[in-house]
Amino acid sequence: MVKAENVHKHFGRLEVLKGIDLEVAPGEVMCVIGPSGSGKSTFLRCINHLEKLTAGKLWVDGELVGYRQKGDKLYELRDDEVARKRREIGMVFQRFNLFPHMCVIDNIIEAPTQVKGVPKGQARERARELLDQVGLADKERAYPRELSGGQQQRVAIARALAMDPKLMLFDEPTSALDPELVGDVLEVMRNLATAGMTMIVVTHEMGFAREVGDSLVFMDGGVIVEHGAPKDVIANPQHERTQSFLSKVL
Ligand code: ATP
Ligand code: MG
Repeated sequence: MVKAENVHKHFGRLEVLKGIDLEVAPGEVMCVIGPSGSGKSTFLRCINHLEKLTAGKLWVDGELVGYRQKGDKLYELRDDEVARKRREIGMVFQRFNLFPHMCVIDNIIEAPTQVKGVPKGQARERARELLDQVGLADKERAYPRELSGGQQQRVAIARALAMDPKLMLFDEPTSALDPELVGDVLEVMRNLATAGMTMIVVTHEMGFAREVGDSLVFMDGGVIVEHGAPKDVIANPQHERTQSFLSKVL
């Protein structure tokens, strides 16, 4: 579903990604850990067309990110083509980013109705199913400010799912939450994983990584230091940097 080949990203003279190679199979849940500034968010943003690669190649669902192939020539995607591609990928951030002036159900149907042209009634029906799925069936008329952080984050997940994404990217979805709210959000993510969604999850919730993750990547300084089955990486880290990082988060 996702393939990265020697992906580099510079911001001016700062090299943030220094040659990332990885593959995420359909239905796989890949967790990504690593210290602050190691390039985790930048990597997700590259997958989602929010940043342009400096070098290397990235594919999502067999299609090259940022380019269109015609014969053996590559053309850069136009903005409208990028926008269309981005819709196929759901992204959930640390901060919930709901539209504050819209109630829950309007938040969820906004993109499907405005961007995809789904009729309102149909979008609402789907939104209700999704709210049920994230345990918030009774909150469709609530406004974001009336919800806890964990509830808002579950709405954000439902909103991303409303676009029927092929792939879900999560960037520290629980790190801004009070500890007692983390479990409900992880539960929703776990159900999504069980339902077969392909997911890349930046998280320091090591219990989630171990139980739900199919693979675990440790990034440091813009490179992948270690990549393997979560239980192996956690129980038996091969690199000193991984050991030292894990000793801080476990
Ligand atoms: P954290 O755990 O703190 O979220 P991260 O691993 O997600 O860290 P990134 O946000 O990917 O790290 O940032 C990697 C590096 O790239 C940092 O040094 C950051 O300052 C730099 N960086 C990120 N975005 C930009 C930008 N738009 N312009 C310049 N530098 C940037
Ligand atoms: Mg980050």
